[in-house]
Amino acid sequence: MALAVTGTVGIDTVYTPDGDHREHVLGGSCTYFAAAANFYGPVRIVGAVGDDFPDDLRSTFDRFNNIDTAGLETRKGSKTFRWGGKYQENMDHRDTLFTELNVLAEAPPPVPESYRDSTMVFLANTHPAVQLDMLSRFPDRKLAVADTMDLWINTERETLTQLVKQIDGLVLNYDEAEQLTGMKNTVAAARELVSWGPAFVVVKKGEHGCIFAHRDGIAALPAFPAERVIDPTGAGDTFAGGMFGHLCRATDAGALTNLTDFDVLRRALAHGTVMASFTIEDFSLDRLATLTQEDIDRRYDEFARMMHL
Ligand code: AMP
Repeated sequence: MALAVTGTVGIDTVYTPDGDHREHVLGGSCTYFAAAANFYGPVRIVGAVGDDFPDDLRSTFDRFNNIDTAGLETRKGSKTFRWGGKYQENMDHRDTLFTELNVLAEAPPPVPESYRDSTMVFLANTHPAVQLDMLSRFPDRKLAVADTMDLWINTERETLTQLVKQIDGLVLNYDEAEQLTGMKNTVAAARELVSWGPAFVVVKKGEHGCIFAHRDGIAALPAFPAERVIDPTGAGDTFAGGMFGHLCRATDAGALTNLTDFDVLRRALAHGTVMASFTIEDFSLDRLATLTQEDIDRRYDEFARMMHL
């Protein structure tokens, strides 16, 4: 199963409630997803940065063995996507300080010929028009899942609604699910979104885990109980990266055939939960860059034991 992801590759500035902050660090939805999925197998990224993208941020990708950056376009004369956020005291809420779309507001990045056989496609947070365009470029896909956020719900609702009807799964935050459906209750909002077309919807609730609504039922999964939360940026994207990574690896091992099966997805969500729990332990990709397979296996076993009733 060849896995491709599109989304943002950007430069972040993040402020945390204890007064600490990082400026101009590597970020972006595509980046975080790929870093997490990389621990399960190869992942191909499709994205664009400007010619201002610094070499030290670019070289971070080399710290991950399985990330194929052939689809990361460096666009001459364009500027890289930049985002700044500040977390509130409880770390579950953040205020966006600025979003500079830059290259993101231009034409979608080209998809390399070598990526055309990708069968697993994750449309990480980016302009919904780019997500739609990307979907059409992978006609052999077996699974396509998208993420979105408030900015796009506010500005591109129609395109987003069109996208939701064409994908197998949608992953989003609880406040975004409410914003998109107008429903305050997370379970009702998730069920409503399933009725729009996808086989499943995962609504993330930060430290409270996620609600998983599926055509065949509904489930809730807690977050991994974390004692150390430094910077939650990218938790949602790495959650999706762990989930997709597991689905690809298990399919390649011959362990599963139906990618949208309720129980299969529930197990995949547990992998996502574990990957997200590492991301939040440090700024940017710093924790993921030092992570080992042993760390992941140990935490997954611990989480699986916690889930056992
Ligand atoms: P998450 O914490 O999982 O929501 O992802 C945070 C990452 O998303 C950051 O590294 C940002 O660079 C990136 N990001 C922020 N706003 C947007 C947006 N409107 N579209 C795409 N990516 C974004």
